[in-house]
Amino acid sequence: MRDEASTEEKHGFQAEVGRLLDIVAHSLYSERSIFLRELISNASDACDRLRYLALTSPELAAGDSQFRVTIAPDAAAHSLTVADNGIGMNREELVANLGTIARSGTSAFLAQATGDAAKDLSLIGQFGVGFYASFMVAEKVEVFSRRAGEAEGWRWVSDGKGEFTVSPATEVERGTRILLHLRKDAEEFLDPLRLKTVVARYSDHIALPILLKAGGKEEKLNEAAALWMRPKSEITERQYAEFYRHVSHGLDQPRLTIHWKAEGKIDYTALLFLPGSRPFDLFNPERKHRLKLYVRRVFITDDCADILPGYLRFLQGIVDSEDLPLNISRELLQHNPLLAKIRSGLVKRSLAELAKLAEKDGEAYGSFWDDFGPVLKEGLYEDTEQREALLKLARFRSTRAEGLTTGLTTLADYVGRMKPGQEAIYYITGETVEAAARSPQLEGFAARGVEVLLLADPVDEFWVPAVGGYDAKPFKSATRGGADLEKIALPEDKKKAAEEPQAAGTDALIALLKLTLKDAVKDVRASHRLEASAVCLVADEGDMDMHLERLLKQHRQLDGKSKRVLEVNPRHPVIACLAKRLSQNGGADAVTEAAWLLLDQACIVQGEPVSDTNAFARRLDSALLRAVG
Ligand code: ADP
Ligand code: MG
Repeated sequence: MRDEASTEEKHGFQAEVGRLLDIVAHSLYSERSIFLRELISNASDACDRLRYLALTSPELAAGDSQFRVTIAPDAAAHSLTVADNGIGMNREELVANLGTIARSGTSAFLAQATGDAAKDLSLIGQFGVGFYASFMVAEKVEVFSRRAGEAEGWRWVSDGKGEFTVSPATEVERGTRILLHLRKDAEEFLDPLRLKTVVARYSDHIALPILLKAGGKEEKLNEAAALWMRPKSEITERQYAEFYRHVSHGLDQPRLTIHWKAEGKIDYTALLFLPGSRPFDLFNPERKHRLKLYVRRVFITDDCADILPGYLRFLQGIVDSEDLPLNISRELLQHNPLLAKIRSGLVKRSLAELAKLAEKDGEAYGSFWDDFGPVLKEGLYEDTEQREALLKLARFRSTRAEGLTTGLTTLADYVGRMKPGQEAIYYITGETVEAAARSPQLEGFAARGVEVLLLADPVDEFWVPAVGGYDAKPFKSATRGGADLEKIALPEDKKKAAEEPQAAGTDALIALLKLTLKDAVKDVRASHRLEASAVCLVADEGDMDMHLERLLKQHRQLDGKSKRVLEVNPRHPVIACLAKRLSQNGGADAVTEAAWLLLDQACIVQGEPVSDTNAFARRLDSALLRAVG
């Protein structure tokens, strides 16, 4: 809306920003001083971006190419200015950047906001409030900005309550000046000493000079050298953590810091972090990483897909190359052979560091695995070169008693526990680990003490067949036909029961079940894998796993349905009883009716839909009537 008289345009904040501002204003955030970090971080990004553009268009930075951030408190006016001479913003950019949140998944993320301050703060902790943190300390924020290469300057104003206005402004220097009208309770940020402490704490790693202008004096507050170029021994953990937050836009603590310099055929420095929490957009289909690429200290891009494989997209940080040409377009960069070498170096080193962490601190590694394991597993089918390394890093829940809730196992440990006669690594897939663990197909494995891996990540359906096996042992689904359980001995106490001859008439029963269910199943067989359950469904050898089929259908990748094998447990009382009934007068009719109930039951246990729910209800009713009546 344009107000003719003042040429002032009024805009509403995007709904998500409104929510964010609400949380920001109403949380009693104990560390309000982070607003300064956010503003300095943005200023530094803005200078980085102009420095890059000026490589090819030097006129953009002409006249003022000493990039810097200036902080100036004004006690009389009760305000604080944070200014940079970076790229600046024009009108459209002011509206878009300071009125919306561009990151994908934002609305879904903020929908989780509850109004409970403590919870919402931890949400924000993952998210990063960015520019909007200004409203933690200011009752009104003015932004003066002029885009490099453009003549017109702009003024953006808001009190953070739903609306902001944008209007043309005169005498605006290139870059962005943010004028915070401090709230009464935020006077501390007028005090130069306090400002110094905050900068030292949060922004010491910034590679530009941060100047404090107060009382007619100007003072440089930081070293203004790229943190990653300093020797490791001179960088504190806190500085690393702050740098991590600068690049990740989060507020969490990194789990692991990996900082090294590669020298030799190619020279580069990398500073990578393993995030402390799972970012909310980790499973976005773009699978984008956010690693920042620098060339000799000049920021080039954070959108260079080829520098890190998708399965390591959770890593945050920077790479600074000494060899890549500086004035190369981002498009050409993608095809530079040096990039492939750097990528391979980053992959090897990161995986090696993860292996080290696994060895040193199993618990920390386990929690890393819970957050990022499903992503790392993508590498198992994508990156054959690193397959061995990744298989060593992979962790699994299993049916081993402590496996479900706490313990994770490696494949090597699983193999070490394999039973005599066991030739395969057994696994079962399901919606969740718990659901997989409840599958009736596992009964025979449990009876023999055979451990089964419980897989519940969608990606498992893809890497398992691609990898095929481990240590010369094939992976085999516990839901497949021919699970070879007979080859593995039962413990003595269970042997006797198993050796009991199967109820007379079982074969006849199976034949009748087959005849009755005809096209609804692929086959009916006596089972070795069932103990407590009467029936279960299994995929025939060579057919698609049931869980995978369900998954593909959910994603509409598959029509139709494979037929399953119905396995019956000859030692189960229901089956024995049916076999007996069959030999009696009129038995065939009763058994025909029961056949469908057995199949429906098997479907339900499996989480598969019952083919005819009405018919199922009728059969169940008549069975109940007979039982109770
Ligand atoms: P983020 O930094 O995570 O993108 P912010 O809320 O901090 O989120 O900033 C939003 C956007 O506003 C930035 O991405 C940038 O495009 C723009 N911006 C903020 N501050 C500046 C600045 N000082 N100079 C230029 N652009 C800026
Ligand atoms: Mg920011």
